[in-house]
Amino acid sequence: MANLSNKAALVTGGSRGIGAAIAKRLAADGASVAITYARGAAAAAEVVKAIEASGGKAVAIQADATDAKAVAAAVEAAVAAFGRLDVLVNNAGTAIPKPFEEATLEEMDQVINLNLRGVFVATQAALKHLGAGGRIINIGSCVGERMMTPGLVAYSATKGAVKMFTQGLSREVGPRGITVNNIQPGPIDTDLNPAAGDWATPQTENTALKRYGHVDDIAAMVAFVAGPEASYITGASLTVDGGTNA
Ligand code: NDP
Repeated sequence: MANLSNKAALVTGGSRGIGAAIAKRLAADGASVAITYARGAAAAAEVVKAIEASGGKAVAIQADATDAKAVAAAVEAAVAAFGRLDVLVNNAGTAIPKPFEEATLEEMDQVINLNLRGVFVATQAALKHLGAGGRIINIGSCVGERMMTPGLVAYSATKGAVKMFTQGLSREVGPRGITVNNIQPGPIDTDLNPAAGDWATPQTENTALKRYGHVDDIAAMVAFVAGPEASYITGASLTVDGGTNA
């Protein structure tokens, strides 16, 4: 039997990049998977198609992660589709790289609302359905712990906050048998942070392995934390970053 048979997961921002890889991996491990997206209906449909083609179950739900009502409705839709919810992956996130003194309040609000407020609202909605064995998995960042490249001040502040959100919430819901963990990727080749982009060289140089990671590197860690062998891990920030702290 696969690790996640008879489990249901919701992945925010599951239409592209790391979120799409997580959705596919959780489905490959036996979970039914709901993904949310903001604008990319076609990309989300492709993810669902790929999962179904491999014999899995998936649905895509349009829900801007910053819109509390839409997110709550998405959680209810996922529960209606699969009859349960066991795993929430708070993946949707963004960065607007630029020097702090040039960033507008609007840009900073955009980053805070998606990366932090979005985590709050999805988690509150999901907790109504998570029981013993439930998993909340946040996608933070290695820059939530240690800053390496300039231009990501607001972004790293939100990811540092996600790290402490993880620790704090783990204390509140631990007695119910629910774990809360934070996966901290290093540079991963996606639309948000292309390995061929202007910012790629300093990020590559900052890793011990001298290369970008792949979306599947993060999906593998999420699958482990979602699975039964991770039942005693909670409040943790687990870094998958090619050694950016080295
Ligand atoms: P991408 O930009 O490649 O993908 C983002 C995904 O989130 C898309 O599916 C997008 O769908 C969705 N999304 C964006 N805005 C919203 C929104 N408002 N509501 C709902 N969904 C939304 O990003 P990555 O895959 O690179 O990043 C995923 C997570 O990993 C983020 O939290 C990021 O901070 C984190 N991370 C990434 C790293 C990297 O190097 N790539 C490093 C460290 C952390 P749509 O287009 O439909 O809106």
